[in-house]
Amino acid sequence: MNNLTVAKFGGTSVANFESMSLCANIVIGDENIRVVAVSAQSGVTNKLVRLSQAGVEQVERDQLLNEIRDIEYSILTDLGSPESIKVALDNLLNELKETANKPELAQSMPLKDHIVSFGEQMSSLLFAEVLRQRQCHAINFDIRQVLKTDSHFGKAEPQVELIRTQAQNLITPDLEKSVVVTQGFIGSDNQGNTTTLGRGGSDYSAALIAEAVDAQVLQIWTDVTGIYTTDPRLTDAARPIAEISFDEAAEAATFGAKILHPATLIPAIRAGTKVFVGSSKAPEAGGTWIVNKSESRPSYRAIALRKDQVLVTVKSPKMLHATGFLAKVFGILADHKISIDLITTSEISVALTLDNPPNATKFGGLPQEAIDELQAFCEVTIEDNLSLVAVIGNHLESGSAVGGKLFNALEKFNLRMICQGASPHNLCFLTPTDKANDVVAQLHSELFD
Ligand code: ADP
Ligand code: ASP
Ligand code: MG
Repeated sequence: MNNLTVAKFGGTSVANFESMSLCANIVIGDENIRVVAVSAQSGVTNKLVRLSQAGVEQVERDQLLNEIRDIEYSILTDLGSPESIKVALDNLLNELKETANKPELAQSMPLKDHIVSFGEQMSSLLFAEVLRQRQCHAINFDIRQVLKTDSHFGKAEPQVELIRTQAQNLITPDLEKSVVVTQGFIGSDNQGNTTTLGRGGSDYSAALIAEAVDAQVLQIWTDVTGIYTTDPRLTDAARPIAEISFDEAAEAATFGAKILHPATLIPAIRAGTKVFVGSSKAPEAGGTWIVNKSESRPSYRAIALRKDQVLVTVKSPKMLHATGFLAKVFGILADHKISIDLITTSEISVALTLDNPPNATKFGGLPQEAIDELQAFCEVTIEDNLSLVAVIGNHLESGSAVGGKLFNALEKFNLRMICQGASPHNLCFLTPTDKANDVVAQLHSELFD
């Protein structure tokens, strides 16, 4: 099929019946869209994550279940409560309730992923019906049969070859006659347990599905008209970018631009899928094309912000003229599966940053045992309430003019750990989180106004 397109609709795009109807207009208006991946209704995954946590009292649990039911039922009601959909939705809600009340839930990673998968399951059930009521031949397909992953619950890794085989067998044959509506974010392991790809993972799912069905185009429909020079919530001066390269967009996503899950572009680059990002509320406003080679390659293109960073400084007087110190530090971190983002070193110390998303354990997941092992031969300091700001572009190596502009613009701010030179594609630094939004706005005005 020429220009086979996979469309992904995010949480705000499918938040209610009205928003879903705008998404349906997009699907019906483009005959190339044959696969649709949806997120859970906006806010539902947060409630499910809360439900899955330990120590949630019964009163709160019931409250969360009621809130979720209300969100789904309001869409069902707007659909005219067709009997078959009502039965299927009730089954899902009952299964959710049953799972949420299992005493072993608090300790069971597979059950936690099972719980959070219900948001996407209910969403695709309802969206397929929205399409059917508009005379579109849509089927609701359980992606867990196709999106096979490892058993790393909460952040599962896809098994790309298997996904391809399953998709070619189970999805491709239907594409001629139907629009296949399915779930983002969820998959299953080899034992059949439900898994999830990590928060915001629906973008990644859609890219994996696009790769597996040999789609030419992946559309990511969200609540903004494309990728902007920075998060438009941070400054009104942010403006959309018409075309951006895979490299630049991947870098922006890695450094916190929430618009795309960081792994989204990996399958797209592998398969050469063109990616479009636009707003389901204003499809006519256009958006951003992410392409292999962009016409323009500006020195800097965008600014990304990632909050919740932890800075770990490891200091040893023995590092002076010593060999093997860094290897030892990184060996300990590797043993504990800690992933490091930025690193700077001086003669007797090394500073590194870890990502510490709100739901993670303390200190970027750095366990006390790792701290103890490091403390056996050096001093360890841990600071949080920091944010990472990254300028993204093509020529950001040391000596580029951007460094000077940055220091000018941010003279009155407290900057920590500036990293430039390792890659021409980014220039990063840390700043206290309470000033991070101001730093981005100020830097944006220096670079883009
Ligand atoms: P969805 O639910 O559709 O996946 P997300 O909330 O995950 O939507 O991502 C869209 C949001 O990403 C936007 O509302 C915007 O605030 C944020 N964002 C962060 N960085 C950027 C950027 N550079 N360009 C556009 N949006 C961005
Ligand atoms: N619903 C999931 C989340 O909120 C996945 C996604 O929206 O991409 O994280
Ligand atoms: Mg998202």
